[in-house]
Amino acid sequence: MAKDKKKVKIFRKKKHTPESKIIEELQAKYENIDEGKITKFTDLPLSQKTLKGLKGNDYIQLTDIQRQSIGLALRGNDILGAAKTGSGKTLAFLVPILESLYCKQWTRLDGIGALIITPTRELAYQIYETLRKVGHYHEISAGLIIGGKDLKFEKKRMDQCNIIICTPGRLLQHMDENPLFDCINMKILVLDEADRCLDMGFEQTMNSIIENLPPKRQTLLYSATQTKSVRDLARLSLKDPLYVSVHEHATHTTPEGLQQSYIVCELEEKISVLWSFIRNHLKQKIIVFFSSCKQVKYIYESFCRLRPGISLLSLYGTLHQLKRMSIYESFCKKQHAVLFATDIAARGLDFPTVNWVVQMDCPEDTNAYIHRAGRTARFQKGGESLLVLLASETAIIDQLKERKIPISMIRINMGKLQSPHRKLEALLARDVALKETAQRAFIAYIKSVFLMKDKTVFNVHKLNTDAFANSLGLAVPPRIRFLQKMQKKTIKSEENTDKKNNVKIDTVGDNNQLMKSEEISNFKNEASKSYAFNDDDSDDDSELLTVKRKNVDVDDIPSIPELDEINSNSNKIKAITKAAVAKKILRKKIVPNKKIAFDDDGQEVIDTAKSKVSELARKYETEVESGINIELAKQILREEDRFDKQRFREKIKEKHREQKRKLKESKKQKEKDKDDEEQEEDFDNDVVSESSGPDTSWLPDPDKIYGKEESCQSGNDTSDEEASTASKDSDDSEISQVHKPTKRKLVTIEEVKRKKRKGNHSELKLDEELALQLLQN
Ligand code: ADP
Ligand code: MG
Repeated sequence: MAKDKKKVKIFRKKKHTPESKIIEELQAKYENIDEGKITKFTDLPLSQKTLKGLKGNDYIQLTDIQRQSIGLALRGNDILGAAKTGSGKTLAFLVPILESLYCKQWTRLDGIGALIITPTRELAYQIYETLRKVGHYHEISAGLIIGGKDLKFEKKRMDQCNIIICTPGRLLQHMDENPLFDCINMKILVLDEADRCLDMGFEQTMNSIIENLPPKRQTLLYSATQTKSVRDLARLSLKDPLYVSVHEHATHTTPEGLQQSYIVCELEEKISVLWSFIRNHLKQKIIVFFSSCKQVKYIYESFCRLRPGISLLSLYGTLHQLKRMSIYESFCKKQHAVLFATDIAARGLDFPTVNWVVQMDCPEDTNAYIHRAGRTARFQKGGESLLVLLASETAIIDQLKERKIPISMIRINMGKLQSPHRKLEALLARDVALKETAQRAFIAYIKSVFLMKDKTVFNVHKLNTDAFANSLGLAVPPRIRFLQKMQKKTIKSEENTDKKNNVKIDTVGDNNQLMKSEEISNFKNEASKSYAFNDDDSDDDSELLTVKRKNVDVDDIPSIPELDEINSNSNKIKAITKAAVAKKILRKKIVPNKKIAFDDDGQEVIDTAKSKVSELARKYETEVESGINIELAKQILREEDRFDKQRFREKIKEKHREQKRKLKESKKQKEKDKDDEEQEEDFDNDVVSESSGPDTSWLPDPDKIYGKEESCQSGNDTSDEEASTASKDSDDSEISQVHKPTKRKLVTIEEVKRKKRKGNHSELKLDEELALQLLQN
């Protein structure tokens, strides 16, 4: 009985307090919220479900931004919320979202009620996790829509989500491709890190997203560096937004617990500074920022091999999403570790108990500095920040001080630094892949400096690139191609403008002159017009900075060919290198070291001994194709084999013919010798001493005796024949030349003898002697 009574009691209670009435009561209190008086969440007219969720996670006291903005947001205002890093902005928008949907008695069937857009996947994930915890007692469902995740899975679940936390690219993808995506009922739009979401890198995507959203909605923007740009606000069509800046009049823009310092060193000393820093802070949790993914990759990979004695992790845009998530979670859990990261980790991420933030590369601007440094000293805790600057970058210190950032210089004894240089050099010498990573890191850094907007801080020409490359362990500094390309463009455009203005100038001027800052900004303006979307959702270089400063001209240059190991000094003077000439020839498709002979008709004479004959092979040679086609090569060999065999047969035949000819000649010669011996008896004996040598000066000129024509003709015939023999078989050419004079004489003697037989007795004697002499030879 007692049990039954209890049941009835519960039933009665529910009946008497309908949710709609509770909601009405809560909403009625919104108007009376006094921001000055409330200190705890329980002081706010919030639902029991929300309060329970907050309490369960130890959120009792309100932070400044929460106190000042939650009440306004509950009343349905559009808000521009600005507060220091780590001051609790996340709850400042999550609580109003939960309450708004609760008050509207939102169910799963109502679809998307709120949309939270963040610039990075990790931040979206972090907000999602916080929402899961705080909104645990609500029946509202939430979905995380970020790049790198299973799109199909997301598509199926999309219609069941009431709160969506997303990155801009992935959201737009759903808007375009997913028929289940419907935000017609959406009530609240939140942009966390609003200034970043609205900047150049996300401009087009955000515009497209905003077009798809219902105009009647509440919009909340939050950031530590809030946008006040009228243009941005107009894009979002905010209705009389309220600017809530809780720390506007604070003495410092950065958290009070944050100790900030900077050092100035040479570019080539940076790596020793970092290595020594890590070795001296082994019991700390550190985030180290670099300006590009490739630098992070190289430093991480090389330092891992050097074993500094502390866990190393790396987080950058080109990593696989699952890896990114596991690294994020692993760094959250670790007590002592170093996380090397790009600016994807700069905004919003709330890693617990980070002791140090080290900015190895100068941040793009003061906002970037604030966000990076803000990864430590979060929510009333302490932390330290170190900024490593080059002497040419110290102008940023004045800018930081103007922004009320207390930063002081510290000097370090460079002589006492531990340098990993030698070890790196040894590592790169035996690991080609790591060497290439180092080369890419080098180029990426130079590129990042070149792309920086603020030319008062960043000057790519002041960098000692050779020494820097060397410090990374690279024996030969990689060639910085994009700079050369830019240089060329500048010179060309200068020449063009000079021509247009009809102004005579000395063209032999400064060859090193590079693009001026205005020209760079022109380039960028042009580039910004043709932006292709590239945000955190894309798996390629998705660093925030890269996106913001995307320069089409520079990014178009492929990065691998930049790795030609040519001393960067050679960039200054445009030398015609052998490689350049070879490339030019290749482009013209001229085969080097090839001699082509042509016959009288202009037809190519193919030297079958040296070049391929078959049509297939010739076609293959003219077509420039990369790689080896083994099947085709076999076929070509078979074809060529036929020609080779034929050539060999011809050569043998020719040899036989030659042998026959020689035999015939020797036979003839023997017969003639016989005849001569017979005739010898008839003539007087007037022997010429053989020892006197072949002095023929006393001999009568046969031309005079037998007429010029005959002897010339015979001589010519012989030489022609020899020439043709020589050309037929070049190997025998030397031999035929040795025999030449002898043959010529023999022919002449034969002629002489023939004439002698005709009856000229007085001169026969002389001829006889000549013949004898030659025969003996
Ligand atoms: P922001 O977005 O301003 O950088 P977060 O919202 O990430 O700051 O909050 C920073 C940290 O402060 C988080 O760890 C969060 O859990 C904690 N925090 C926020 N609000 C409160 C609160 N009211 N009470 C206790 N901790 C809070
Ligand atoms: Mg935040």
